[in-house]
Amino acid sequence: MGKSSKDKRDVYYRLAKEEGWRARSAFKLLQLDEEFNFLQGVQRAVDLCAAPGSWSQVLSKRLGENHKQTPEEPEPKIVAVDLQAMAPLDGVIQLQGDITKKSTAEKIISYFDGGMADIVICDGAPDVTGLHDMDEYIQAQLLLAALNITTHVLRPGGTFVAKIFRGKDITLLYSQLKIFFPTVTCSKPRSSRNSSIEAFIVCQNYQPPTDYTPTMANPLLDLQYDGMNELTGPNRTIVPFIACGDLNGYDADRTYPLTSSYKSLDPLQPPITAPYKTAMELKRNNFYNK
Ligand code: SAM
Repeated sequence: MGKSSKDKRDVYYRLAKEEGWRARSAFKLLQLDEEFNFLQGVQRAVDLCAAPGSWSQVLSKRLGENHKQTPEEPEPKIVAVDLQAMAPLDGVIQLQGDITKKSTAEKIISYFDGGMADIVICDGAPDVTGLHDMDEYIQAQLLLAALNITTHVLRPGGTFVAKIFRGKDITLLYSQLKIFFPTVTCSKPRSSRNSSIEAFIVCQNYQPPTDYTPTMANPLLDLQYDGMNELTGPNRTIVPFIACGDLNGYDADRTYPLTSSYKSLDPLQPPITAPYKTAMELKRNNFYNK
């Protein structure tokens, strides 16, 4: 598919390039923040599963604005983690690592000089297989890994925002999140396609149980905290659902015609170590025809 065809099909892809974002995902975080205002006053942030870096760009912009309002406060600190290498971004400390590893949590903490983060965000997604049950399961595991790492680095009262797939096990995940956050909301930004089961959970006011010691043991389901992760009867967790983003704004599922002045732009930051690089090399060397 040509670039201009994708531009036409996906208005947020086109807008991202026009506005200087590395990925269209930037709009999801911007629209979530418009609704919840969770980046207000934030000084320390962690971006889990950050490559190619559009959420980190949003953090860098918003935390910079916060700092201008309170210049007497320390400079903002942003740590971005991903399995993949990421092109450098001003004001963002990058860490190539796996969010399921305790060593990654320890490295993040070391960057904060012993302090804790005000917010942890995670747009993590495994490579989708197309087998829906499998994809949902892996996504849920990645979310639990993000929650686990969050319990190591987030300050009490802090916020956790993460991508979630609205599959059949979602209430199980809600119960897990409710153990740590009294306020959990599921939200779907306008820039996220309706055809996708993706949504985002916004978990506010981090309050770990009194007997909780952060551990990377997974899944958290194994742990019991005063029966709070009971899933039956009145304890079954239901969280509010909020659609966000301007209803008069662009609809991610619609195709918008290109104007006469339209000029196709290159993506701002192509992947620096594309996952398909090895496959391309093998193809070039005729590996698949042998
Ligand atoms: N928020 C990013 C942005 O705005 O540019 C896009 C994130 S992309 C949808 C999902 C990322 O999750 C991929 O870059 C992938 O490498 C990363 N990822 C998946 N599993 C991971 C893991 N276990 N540890 C760290 N990163 C992981």
